Amino acid sequence: MAITHNLGFPRIGKHRELKTALESYWQGQSSADALHEKGRMLRHRHWAQQQQLYWVPIGDFSFYDHVLDMSVTLGNLPERVRGYRGDALDNYFRVARGQSQPHAKHEECCASVAAGEMTKWFDTNYHYIVPELSADTRFSLNAERLVNELEEALQQGVQAKPVIIGPLTYLALGKAKDGSDKLALLDALLPVYVELLQRLAEAGARWVQIDEPILTTELSDDWRNAFRTSYEALVAAPTQLLLTTYFGRLGGNLDLATALPVHGLHVDAVAAGDELSAILERWPQDRVLSLGVVNGRNIWKSDLNSLLDTLEPIAANLGERLWIAPSCSLLHVPTDLELETELDAEIRSWLAFATQRLEEIRILGQALNHGRDTVRAELAQNQAAVLNRRRSSRVHVPSVQQALERVTPQWGRRRSDFPARCSLQREKLDLPLFPTTTIGSFPQTTEIRRTRRLYRQGRIDHTEYRHAMHAEIERCIREQEALGLDVLVHGEAERNDMVEYFGEQLEGFAFSRYGWVQSYGSRCVKPPILFGDVWRKHAMTVEWVRYAQSLTDKPVKGMLTGPVTMLNWSFVRDDQPRSRTCLQLALAIREEVQELERAGVQIIQIDEAALREGLPPRQSEWQSYLDWAIDAFRIAANGVADETQIHTHMCYSEFNDIIEAIAAMDADVITIETSRSDMALLNAFDDFAYPNEIGPGVYDIHSPNIPGRDEIVDLIQKAGQRIPVRRLWINPDCGLKTREWDEVLPALRNMVHAAHELRELYYRS
Ligand code: GLN
Ligand code: ZN
Repeated sequence: MAITHNLGFPRIGKHRELKTALESYWQGQSSADALHEKGRMLRHRHWAQQQQLYWVPIGDFSFYDHVLDMSVTLGNLPERVRGYRGDALDNYFRVARGQSQPHAKHEECCASVAAGEMTKWFDTNYHYIVPELSADTRFSLNAERLVNELEEALQQGVQAKPVIIGPLTYLALGKAKDGSDKLALLDALLPVYVELLQRLAEAGARWVQIDEPILTTELSDDWRNAFRTSYEALVAAPTQLLLTTYFGRLGGNLDLATALPVHGLHVDAVAAGDELSAILERWPQDRVLSLGVVNGRNIWKSDLNSLLDTLEPIAANLGERLWIAPSCSLLHVPTDLELETELDAEIRSWLAFATQRLEEIRILGQALNHGRDTVRAELAQNQAAVLNRRRSSRVHVPSVQQALERVTPQWGRRRSDFPARCSLQREKLDLPLFPTTTIGSFPQTTEIRRTRRLYRQGRIDHTEYRHAMHAEIERCIREQEALGLDVLVHGEAERNDMVEYFGEQLEGFAFSRYGWVQSYGSRCVKPPILFGDVWRKHAMTVEWVRYAQSLTDKPVKGMLTGPVTMLNWSFVRDDQPRSRTCLQLALAIREEVQELERAGVQIIQIDEAALREGLPPRQSEWQSYLDWAIDAFRIAANGVADETQIHTHMCYSEFNDIIEAIAAMDADVITIETSRSDMALLNAFDDFAYPNEIGPGVYDIHSPNIPGRDEIVDLIQKAGQRIPVRRLWINPDCGLKTREWDEVLPALRNMVHAAHELRELYYRS
């Protein structure tokens, strides 16, 4: 009797109800009670949807981020928000966003709390709030949220399995700002976990899912030892523990993970399929083994028959000690394919979203426990879809495959090296010291969204649409000129999303209508579905940039999304290596770059916001990823003359550890996110002399706070201690599309004034 379960469910709601509720609360338009009520409604709905499984996860719901939730549970909120007025919810949002509600009562106290740092959750596009740690960190249990949700679920008859982040992963994800040893905190942390498990047991939890995804990364000996001592301490708690790993193979931690004294272990059988026999060999008779057999991170239907071939002998052996689940939490896939009535029927038949994944698990469980015959129709339908995708001529385009064979190493190289290019570009562009620019997008007003919607719905024609977009471009150019920025952008009003915009114009992509996935807080993305060979039919951006350039004498940057980011932010076909798909994307972008150059665009930015998140969790696999990823970028970017300046941009890129690969991209200018981390990012430059120009972000666009001029001067002076000032640019952390004009204008004004002040300072000295 195999047992079915789930590790976590998307929390945003199939119609993004949580997003709406959060934003209305933040804007002061609804009450905390209303928000809590919405949370309850979503949890109940999601539990009901999972009732077909044996165990249902609880505590995976979150108003912002499950790592921040864990910080609350452990009593580890930053010092700076303690003692603030308002309730716990307000404090929670203060850490998340630097601000809670803009209520008059909070004007003084909340105006300028620094938000917690945000970074990628392993190699996904989900962002968590980094736990802040120091040698003085003390923990104290705050189990209220978990216990309440557990009681809520049990009352409804849900077989609830609370989900928490394990102590080692929690510490590993945290950041010790004082540079202290994070493991030294373990002695203080473990008693709080023991107490938490006790509380959960008292409240009725029979199993607790304790997530330790860092077991799929490389661990040093002291962390491995810490695993042993920690789990020896935790196993004493009166509830059974399912130690949960995902996002990769166990690799060198296989012996460690299988020997820890827990009651069950979950492994990501999608990523670690080749380790299965080694795990089974070691697996003791009395413990649960949970196999994550359907992909929690991608949306292609599983091949159920072939999974059953693997699972049947294991089930015969393990009986009810075999659990089956998705590979990881379903947080990373959209909620329900049922809503996608407009999606091409053939492509749709190849897909499974979160709700369909649960159905796959149910079918597998049914087949294992009662025989394949009891689900014959479901299995036949699944098989037909899997075969259809494998053979479809929409997936395989011979001319695209042939084009790949023509690429030579030369395609990835500029004609001259950076110093030579740099002087040619300086001569041509004639920019001041500390040139100012932005990252591309300007506020996406409701008017812009409305125009795009009307156009999409066919309610306005192309002429009218173009007219409206031209008006937006003109507004952007005028504002930037008035601000005195040096390198302008057209503002990206035509783009719904930096990947979707390009995907919609390329062949090989399909789009869902409601396929939202949480990125951070209330922000969601709708990843394109990259199902087949990719190629470019026509120019994608040239018209807009050319129009913008016709309005000004200042240089306007062309703005593209890079191949690696398109890949990492899409749901990518799994029937050929990702590197090969990436190269197809690179060739398409390269054609666009060259067409922009021919149109007279002198500066072209190719955003690689998502380069870092493609890094495999295991560091030993980084280099092979970086090799093909950087190669793809270079092929996209380097088909231009020396005088053409190539920019790239990255968000949240803690890139200290990949700085050499970043340098190997050989972009003339790179802009990066730095302001939230107070330029800590630039530590990388102590050991590595980054050779090209760089714009460390000085304006945290993820927060509504407006940076002051002095603050910006300060940040750039910090940067100037590490990077020759001649090579520094001044720009925000990222694009401005999520902000309001009345936030953006004063912020950019301060930025430009800061540049003036810095020029004075440095010209004088
Ligand atoms: N050019 C894009 C913008 O400004 C970059 C966004 C990003 O890096 N996430 O919106
Ligand atoms: Zn960015």
